[in-house]
Amino acid sequence: MPDLEPDEFRRQGHQLVDWVARYRTSLPSLHVRPKVVPGSVKAQLPRELPEQPSQALGDDLIALLNDVVVPSSLHWQHPGFFGYFPANASLLSLLGDIASGGIGAQGMLWSTSPAGTEIEQVLLDGLADALGLGREFTFAGGGGGSLQDSASSASLAALLAALQRSNPDWREHGVDGTETVYVTAETHSSLAKAVRVAGLGARALRIVPFTQGTLSMSADALADMLAKDTAAGKRPVMVCPTVGTTGTGAIDPVREVALAARTYEAWVHVDAAWAGVAALCPEFRWLLDGVNLVDSFCTDAHKWFYTAFDASFMWVRDARALPTALSITPEYLRNAATESGEVIDYRDWQVPLGRRMRALKIWSVVHGAGLEGLRESIRGHVAMANSLAGRIESESGFALATPPSLALVCLYLVDQEGRPDDAATKAAMEAVNAEGHSFLTHTSVNGHFAIRVAIGATTTLPDHIDTLWDSLCKAARQSGG
Ligand SMILES: *Cc1c(COP(=O)(O)O)cnc(C)c1O
Repeated sequence: MPDLEPDEFRRQGHQLVDWVARYRTSLPSLHVRPKVVPGSVKAQLPRELPEQPSQALGDDLIALLNDVVVPSSLHWQHPGFFGYFPANASLLSLLGDIASGGIGAQGMLWSTSPAGTEIEQVLLDGLADALGLGREFTFAGGGGGSLQDSASSASLAALLAALQRSNPDWREHGVDGTETVYVTAETHSSLAKAVRVAGLGARALRIVPFTQGTLSMSADALADMLAKDTAAGKRPVMVCPTVGTTGTGAIDPVREVALAARTYEAWVHVDAAWAGVAALCPEFRWLLDGVNLVDSFCTDAHKWFYTAFDASFMWVRDARALPTALSITPEYLRNAATESGEVIDYRDWQVPLGRRMRALKIWSVVHGAGLEGLRESIRGHVAMANSLAGRIESESGFALATPPSLALVCLYLVDQEGRPDDAATKAAMEAVNAEGHSFLTHTSVNGHFAIRVAIGATTTLPDHIDTLWDSLCKAARQSGG
């Protein structure tokens, strides 16, 4: 195979790094959302794949980026990106990611990537401390952390560990149809998917009601459901409280939920995919209240922790839980280090066998920004959200759809009586998105269309919030509000 010579890689690689730097510099001048229709990208690509190697791959790639990729991309790293949740690919993290690709290690076992495995362990132990998770989630304390590809995978892994703990026969015989899993209507859809992937079927999913007037799980309702289900012969396997729901940033009461689950020995997995990293700041530690009572905890590195896709932190209280559920050792993977019992083989902590050295990009972020740099950035985003929320509250024609949660603000336009105006809210969002400097997405709050402003891109500054707010006000005036 005609791979690049290392010297040629150096030359073309430098050009590509230059291109990335130029792209990042140019972002503020680009429309966040591309003007595309389905199929418009395909129409620009030749259907025939090349038979012969390119003589100038770097140039060809840069042409593809300039002509096709940039004009047809939603620019997630744009400072005016307020949609979904941020997927920050900081340049810091890219350095580590390039190194990871360059080393090209496959870290399934300690022995296939001793450096990757142990750097990951040290980082996850350090971050458990930095977040205030408690010693029980560190390797030193009998638990431990791993880098999953996503919060969705972490939820699935937690569910598999929960199934095994709930029924030691699960590995051999699988599920028996009595298993139940507890979430709310605002829980991320990845839990519903995990339940199906694990073979429980959607019927296993129990939707716990909210505490009146909130979008947070009612621990009393949970206790009720657990008691009734158990009496009816069901086996509560897992409860999944969310710290910072995707729709509105609602926070389930982890401590009360964990206490209710404990009676039934149900596994408690905390999904804090977006919000969890805020616990780096002492003033947001309350987010993790009760986490000392749960079995596993997940927060994404690729959302608000400045790390390029994909990386998600997952900690478990019992370091044996995932291997007990997932470890299968064919002869060709046997090795002395594993047999010594002194090492972690991360393949046993996840669904796939293979894994890349994600630890290097986390290392780059942690060392490049420092914990204090990360805290400052989180605080800046939260301050911008509070300032936006203040403007919404004091402007007639607007209302907060839910109380702001950290750096997430949900709002709608309201009529003269203060009732949410779905059509006007939707029109305002579309007007803002059409202008190009900002990008917003929506959710539904009590049946009403609500705009979400998820602040958290690495380059977002108060100016960008001002521009967004001016544009929202203009849209509201145009809708006659
Ligand atoms: C984004 C999100 C997820 C899914 O995250 P992935 O890492 O993309 O799987 C799960 N839960 C919550 C609360 C989220 O916000």
